[in-house]
Amino acid sequence: MCGIIGYIGDRQAAPIILSGLRKLEYRGYDSAGMAVICDGKMQSEKTVGKLVELENATDEGTKIQGKMGIGHTRWATHGAPTVQNSHPHFSQDGKFAVVHNGIIENYLELRKMLTEAGFTFVSDTDTEVVPQLLQHFYNGDMFETVSKVVGMLRGAYALGIISTHDPDRIYAVRKGSPLIVGLGDGANFIASDIPAILSRTRRVYLLEEGEFAILSKDKVDIVDADKKVIHKQVYEVDWDVDAAQKDGYEYYMLKEIMEQPRAMKDTMGPRLNGNDVVMSELSMPESYYKNLSKIFIVACGSAYHVGLVGKYVLEDLARVPVEVDLASEFRYRNPIIQPGDLVIIISQSGETLDTLEALRDAKKQGARILSIVNVKGSSIARESDDVLYTHAGPEIAVATTKAYSTQMDILFLLGLYLARVRGQITSAQEQELVEELKTIPDKVQAFLKDVSGLEKLAKQHKSVRDVFFIGRGIDYAIALEGSLKLKEISYIHSEAYAAGELKHGTISLIEDGTLVIALATQQKLFEKTLSNIKEVKSRGATVIAVVMEGHTEVEKEADVTIYIPKTMEVFAGALEVIPLQVLAYYISYHKGLDVDKPRNLAKSVTVE
Ligand code: GLU
Repeated sequence: MCGIIGYIGDRQAAPIILSGLRKLEYRGYDSAGMAVICDGKMQSEKTVGKLVELENATDEGTKIQGKMGIGHTRWATHGAPTVQNSHPHFSQDGKFAVVHNGIIENYLELRKMLTEAGFTFVSDTDTEVVPQLLQHFYNGDMFETVSKVVGMLRGAYALGIISTHDPDRIYAVRKGSPLIVGLGDGANFIASDIPAILSRTRRVYLLEEGEFAILSKDKVDIVDADKKVIHKQVYEVDWDVDAAQKDGYEYYMLKEIMEQPRAMKDTMGPRLNGNDVVMSELSMPESYYKNLSKIFIVACGSAYHVGLVGKYVLEDLARVPVEVDLASEFRYRNPIIQPGDLVIIISQSGETLDTLEALRDAKKQGARILSIVNVKGSSIARESDDVLYTHAGPEIAVATTKAYSTQMDILFLLGLYLARVRGQITSAQEQELVEELKTIPDKVQAFLKDVSGLEKLAKQHKSVRDVFFIGRGIDYAIALEGSLKLKEISYIHSEAYAAGELKHGTISLIEDGTLVIALATQQKLFEKTLSNIKEVKSRGATVIAVVMEGHTEVEKEADVTIYIPKTMEVFAGALEVIPLQVLAYYISYHKGLDVDKPRNLAKSVTVE
């Protein structure tokens, strides 16, 4: 979850470490720190709060001399965000410094063993056992010691390690959490992900599970735990760091909302040939998809919500049973997977730890893994049988928008493809559906042209205490996403309910002025949701309805009606989520919150 960076070269390390951390801040931001070795001496600085605190404390890094070091932005799992708990962590003798992303699951037993051996601890973190173990087991050979200590750790980790015993090398290893190595000219880097070093080099090694990297300023060795050299291919990054800048928007989130039409076109375009869906990235023959008897969709957060949209779409179009699971539940519920079942894994970053582990479990049980991922070369992409990449571009705001929308596009395409190979739609129907699907990006564009009405609405409602989102069918799946979007960035309590469930409990919470956002784009369910709107209205709720153009009758019941462009009901989710994203954005913005970096959250959840 956190961000790790390391530099070794001919230049002053601290400013380079800070600029790398700046790019990684979205991964975690409750505290930050760095350790740099200069003339054989360990120096460090740690601060609580945003990265700017560390920049100020070190005069943008200029105060700290030395040409090699490691840095970290933390997203606390063990111990409060304090200076003592922030990384790097040090051994008692100050000779080892460690930055860590992930969780060391057996840290209590290791800590007990070390305490009995006379070590004292200064933090509450799981991480601190690592430098202490390094001191304890140091035998004069740095790699041997690192490898021995890593062999004692259980859990998930990416580690960056430096020591005054070996001041011209950085050691790194990954298991579970992401880590890459950047290959510069007379300088080398480690980082949690590529944007952190992209302004310095485009040549990287993507570390695999259990691989160690030994970096000096002009050499990088990738080895296994026995120091056997692993010959790795250099990955040349072909995308641009500028794509990840703000383009004049105050927050990435609004920029990313506005980028959706382009992202949708980029995602769907290469998979359409005229009005035919082409899935050349799928390696199995059509007969496999024709005979499929079960699909699982496994994901977390918004990717789970898009999976629910996928269930409605795939079952409706392709008539194949779909189960949707939260990855953290799927892993532990002993699901009944038959060899050959298709498991669709959805993750923007491709590093979501629970999702990655669910993938591995499903694979072990003989499932075929198809992943929908945004980040090329990510762990989930690498471990899947097939990958359908979303071409959303880098997504920086913690609250997802364009990655979510493009994941939905992939599910639409997959639904159409499966429907065809399973004989559920005729070629004429496919043509008609694709014809409509192709219009969605332009419809989103047209809707986003003027969002001033939504901004006004957001200002009016920014102080509400509770919001309920209701809908049926696809509208319910979108209600879940709308509710999450609002609560995660505005800190307003919100919940989503299947509209038919209201009477079974929630309606008791409706009182004068409670805000209800009712989604009603599905024709056969329209009247039923309309009745639910009436029920909450008569109990005092203020209702904002989201419907397709033309459904003016809802105006009689709702206080405000938002119209989305007309489309086929199966694709309605792609349009109706847009006003919910925009509303959440402006509510957060007008509350004066940091929209892109909501409290307690991180972009890529690489811990369990
Ligand atoms: N478990 C470690 C801690 O709480 C690392 C968390 C992180 O990945 O930032 O300090």
